[in-house]
Amino acid sequence: MDTPFTRLAELCKALEATTKRTEKTRLISEFLFGLEPNEIAPAVLLIVGQIFPEFDPRTLEIGWSTMKRVLEKGKQTTLLRHQLSIRRVYSTLSEIAMTQGSRSRKLKERLLVGLISDASRDEVEILVRIIFGEMRIGVNEGVMLDALAETSGAPVPVVRRALMLTGNLGEVALVTIIQGEKGLEGIKPELFVPLKPMLAENADNPEEAIREHGGRTVFEYKFDGARVQIHRLGDEVRVYSRRLSDVTESIPDVVNLVQKFLPRVGIIVEGEITAVGSGGKPLPFQDLMRRFTRVTDVQKAAEQIPLSLHLFDILYLDGVLLIDEPYETRWAILSKITPKEILAERTVTNNPKEAAAFLKAAMKAGHEGLVAKRLDSHYNPGARGKDWLKLKPAETMDLVIVAADWGSGRRRGWLSNYHLAARDGDEWNVVGKTFKGLTDEEFRWMTKRLQAIKVGETDYTVSVRPEIVVEVTFNEVQHSPHYKSGFALRFARITRIRDDKESRDAETLDKIRVLYKKQFRVKDRL
Ligand code: AMP
Repeated sequence: MDTPFTRLAELCKALEATTKRTEKTRLISEFLFGLEPNEIAPAVLLIVGQIFPEFDPRTLEIGWSTMKRVLEKGKQTTLLRHQLSIRRVYSTLSEIAMTQGSRSRKLKERLLVGLISDASRDEVEILVRIIFGEMRIGVNEGVMLDALAETSGAPVPVVRRALMLTGNLGEVALVTIIQGEKGLEGIKPELFVPLKPMLAENADNPEEAIREHGGRTVFEYKFDGARVQIHRLGDEVRVYSRRLSDVTESIPDVVNLVQKFLPRVGIIVEGEITAVGSGGKPLPFQDLMRRFTRVTDVQKAAEQIPLSLHLFDILYLDGVLLIDEPYETRWAILSKITPKEILAERTVTNNPKEAAAFLKAAMKAGHEGLVAKRLDSHYNPGARGKDWLKLKPAETMDLVIVAADWGSGRRRGWLSNYHLAARDGDEWNVVGKTFKGLTDEEFRWMTKRLQAIKVGETDYTVSVRPEIVVEVTFNEVQHSPHYKSGFALRFARITRIRDDKESRDAETLDKIRVLYKKQFRVKDRL
């Protein structure tokens, strides 16, 4: 029998009412247990508000104004209500996503009115949340994986791995519940279905990476470009972005490279694409973005902004999955079948000095830093861990001290924790604090200077006129709710007191904003 959609709406309400993760997984698990097999995938996707697997390009394309009209019309036609089922909701939403062409808006609207007019008030509320991807019930993929494990008795890591291999939560849910652990173990990645990319954690310097990786590691250039996963079988080539969308059509030059250089036997490789400027140096990331998002005049764009390919991993070759082979084996295979000009630069070493020189070379060639990879590590799809460590050289910027806290312990009696601010029009906005970098003598000197320009004080903190400029070195700009500026510098330390500078020479908040964007946002959207 078809399970009514109202049961799913009730579940969502119950999930919203509890913040406890274990309670959420119990509720979901109980619910899933009672479903027919062909309802499992639709229900799971609706609960997490995903509708389609991540790699599926379909979207609903329903705006607020359409929704409003639909809700009005839905109200007027409630004389004869047919009970909604989970499967009907799911198949209607799929149909809405599939309508294309000139009449699609009308068609979408009509399909949606059909759903809404058969829905109760609670059902409408949940439907609207699903359609706009805002479930607000605290159930993300992670919670769902726990719930699936609980329902089936399969271990969480086995369920997670199946999801990372296929990117298809609905399919994984069905296999988990119907076939359990055995079934999950049979899930293999397929050609032309992208795997989630393995990710890296931060490291501060080459020593740390070498130590973390057991005394010896490989350093590869960290190319400032876009991650791609390339699948090939025979003449068919598909290129997927880090977010698993298919970008093949916008980069025919990369497809040509692959057709020219890689074997036809069935292969999945990974690498980074960079845009190349005159003189061979990488162009800024924005130029690369223009290539990726291009749908018309693709050939012309390819001439204007040529791309180069730097492969660094192989996950599959001729029917054999390689992700459980150690990095070194994968690299040996990759480098055997790939010409040097499309391979990533790398060096294996146990020597921090050598690694530092390699980092310098990477920067000189216009790249972002290095990625260190544990030589015996497997390829863990979707995982961010210490097997891959990214190293970016520190940035420096001139900032102004606007306040300081009194120190304790050894620093008692000194103003030693400095509030660092960037210029934002006429205002100063704090972007971090640090007590690192000064010698004892400098602390004493700074304490005197700050007291001389004091404008206010509390028990712990002295506010000062924004006059002292310091050079601050840091590793990353992070988003921070603590400061009004919205940003915080990670691992900030003072590397010089810039007596030669005035506060108007200090850096602007805009510059920090740009740095932040460059680091995260833009890339994650691809
Ligand atoms: P981040 O985006 O800062 O987390 O850094 C990880 C990203 O660096 C990956 O997703 C890749 O796009 C990129 N990258 C550049 N070069 C490499 C490399 N040699 N190995 C792995 N990732 C790399």
